[in-house]
Amino acid sequence: MSLKTLLPGSTSPTGQQITLGVMGGGQLGRMFVQAAQAMGYFTAVLDPDPASPAGLISHYHILTPYDDEQGLAQLMQRCEAITTEFENVPAPALVTLGAHRPVAPSAACVAVAQDRIKEKAHFVQCAPVSGVFPAPYAAITTDALLAAVPADLLPGILKTARLGYDGKGQVRVSTREELAAAWDRLDKVPCVLEKLLPLRGECSVIVARGADGQAVTFPVQKNTHRDGILALTEVHEGALDAALAQRAQASAVAIAHHLHYVGVLCIEYFVVDGANGQPDLVVNEMAPRPHNSGHYTQDACDLSQFEAQVRALAGLPLPVPRQHSAAIMVNLLGDLWFEPNAARPKPSAIPVSPPWAQVLALPGTHLHLYGKLSARAGRKMGHLNITAPSVAQVRETTAQVLALLGLPALDA
Ligand code: ADP
Ligand code: MG
Repeated sequence: MSLKTLLPGSTSPTGQQITLGVMGGGQLGRMFVQAAQAMGYFTAVLDPDPASPAGLISHYHILTPYDDEQGLAQLMQRCEAITTEFENVPAPALVTLGAHRPVAPSAACVAVAQDRIKEKAHFVQCAPVSGVFPAPYAAITTDALLAAVPADLLPGILKTARLGYDGKGQVRVSTREELAAAWDRLDKVPCVLEKLLPLRGECSVIVARGADGQAVTFPVQKNTHRDGILALTEVHEGALDAALAQRAQASAVAIAHHLHYVGVLCIEYFVVDGANGQPDLVVNEMAPRPHNSGHYTQDACDLSQFEAQVRALAGLPLPVPRQHSAAIMVNLLGDLWFEPNAARPKPSAIPVSPPWAQVLALPGTHLHLYGKLSARAGRKMGHLNITAPSVAQVRETTAQVLALLGLPALDA
């Protein structure tokens, strides 16, 4: 069903409060729920986990598996429109929902983002308009395709076509023998082999596109990953080459248009060496939802990526977002609850809260914790947005935060 305008705080023809639904109850769903509730919408979350971050704070929490027919029926009965917060939501569930309710992004768009083979093919199709290509790659789905892999894709990274995230489902390979052994170990599931590129850096773009085809982008994020997980996002003057950032935004809009995408989409890029020593872009992957790298928008822009998701779903206007503060986002992984820091010099075996009082005493620190009930190494527990009127100040405060938390310092 197509989207119609759902005015905040209004009631449906059956007299029920306008309710927005989300498939998935993780932190992204939680922040969507928070943005929707701030505008006066009721919310419903479908997630089987009774302690899911979004389920805990939503008006309604439907506690069934994602493909449970009764759960989906309840969600449709409660909600005027439905979105998703994770890309591995079963596509057939979105098809079912989409037959009866407006769903954004659509099942078709989510299906492209769920599968690296389709995703890369889409990027290649878009390249004449987007101006940006993916890394050289080959799809590997049969022994014949494995044998036919061009030699110049090695050394490369073998990635499962589906269900990979935070560097999981990826194996670096240097030779054909290693490649064959790695594919074997992945049980010969459909994969792509991507050429290993020397990266200068990484960046990403959040684009929000309405059902009317109007698309806006947020300022481009410079990302630093550690152990395959996003560690830091920097968005301020000088973080990225300005012309490169503009090209990334134009490319992201072209990709969203080509998909007829409705909702919030994040596209990740590699920054590589181009001609004449200039930086160049390679498109990596996309997420059909708000993204960890876009969290800075909550405190540094006049529109957050989550409010943009609400607006796109509710058919409300999407004005061009304006960044009003220099921003750095620090991801807070569960490790911080165990590792030594300035307030707690010895590592502990039982989880202990990081020194929030000291962190929050610094100007422009905005703590977002996801309400997860237990900390584990590598688990995303929250993030900290640091904002300031100048680049020097945001870097200075971030340096202090990183020292307090016992995290590696910013690059010079
Ligand atoms: P995930 O779904 O786990 O985020 P990505 O494809 O984004 O998977 O890969 C995770 C990280 O691995 C990237 O952010 C980048 O740092 C590195 N990486 C992935 N592909 C390549 C490549 N072709 N060349 C160099 N580094 C890569
Ligand atoms: Mg990635």
